[in-house]
Amino acid sequence: VLYNKKPCYDIVFQQSFDGLWEELQELGASEKKLCIVTDSRVDELYGAQVAELLEGKCCKIVKYAFPAGEENKNLETVKDVYRYLIEEGFDRKDMLLALGGGVTGDLTGFVAATYLRGIDFVQIPTTLLAQVDSSIGGKTGVDFDSYKNMVGAFKMPRLVYMNLSVLKTLEERQFYSGFAEVMKSALIKDALFYEWLIENMYEICEREPATLEEMVIRTCSIKKMVVEKDPTEQGDRALLNLGHTIGHAIEKAKNFELYHGECVALGTVAAAYISWKKEMLSMEEFYEIRDMFVPFYLPISVDDIDPQEILKLTKSDKKMEAGKIKFILLKKIGKAVIDRTVTDDEILAAIEEINFSE
Ligand code: NAD
Ligand code: ZN
Repeated sequence: VLYNKKPCYDIVFQQSFDGLWEELQELGASEKKLCIVTDSRVDELYGAQVAELLEGKCCKIVKYAFPAGEENKNLETVKDVYRYLIEEGFDRKDMLLALGGGVTGDLTGFVAATYLRGIDFVQIPTTLLAQVDSSIGGKTGVDFDSYKNMVGAFKMPRLVYMNLSVLKTLEERQFYSGFAEVMKSALIKDALFYEWLIENMYEICEREPATLEEMVIRTCSIKKMVVEKDPTEQGDRALLNLGHTIGHAIEKAKNFELYHGECVALGTVAAAYISWKKEMLSMEEFYEIRDMFVPFYLPISVDDIDPQEILKLTKSDKKMEAGKIKFILLKKIGKAVIDRTVTDDEILAAIEEINFSE
């Protein structure tokens, strides 16, 4: 067994950054240099506040901010962070703090995995997507040429610190895009949570703090449970890819104009459609799942796609095994399964279902 350590770190939920130092202190931060890695937008909003909080408490606190955007999640930015850490004299006992969305977390985690063969890092996720998904599970990495997440490493953070109050400054589209991953988690593992999401629809859209807190905690618990059972994706972790097989294909075909969660919503509708056609879900369940995305401003159809192109892109995804696509389908709401029997025709029919021009 190459990888037999369970991910082991605290995930802390708070409504401010105030408790951050106490948590860091437990990791020995008083004796360390700390580098906040963040993007330009998050830096503007929260960079100074977090830096001030830590000022004078550790050996040294410095900050590296890169221009916000997926296009900067690459090896150029990684190199820049390496240079900065070398200039600032960071050694193996020092620590990085990833303050930002999934882009910041993935990039910082990759730097932490590779700088001096690995140094500690802490996730301080600030987007809904990062809080419920990317900050947990230890996948880190960057894009390479036109390939998403092509270069990376498994690297567990020492701590995930979530300040849920930062969700209020998220752009509308960004917020709902993250919500797609919440829906996905409920659909694959937790029917009761799915019911709860319907009941609390209004409070969620209003971003009512206590509701968001419960929502984030429940989604994180699902991700944590799945990932701990299967850290390197030999089995059940693949279930988290519900909606991602066709979703990624649409993301690419649309040149990343649609947000990730929007594509996940479309991909989930397609997967639910296939599940219905394979007589796993009833027709009522399919329509219910599809229509649940609508009040959360997520798309259930898309225009200007070429079904053949989406099929081709779907089949070129990483999730192929021995020539067969590993599809995640729904047996019912709250239970997903891995399926290797989905045919090209079934995929095409599902793409037609979400094709707006139909
Ligand atoms: P992002 O990090 O680019 O953040 C989106 C935008 O929101 C950025 O402009 C950012 O500056 C801004 N922002 C962040 N926090 C904010 C706040 N509190 N208020 C206002 N604006 C804020 O994108 P993302 O959607 O968080 O993450 C997407 C990335 O996550 C992708 O690169 C994807 O590959 C990766 N990802 C990784 C995993 C994993 O397991 N490692 C899982 C899912 C996604
Ligand atoms: Zn996703």
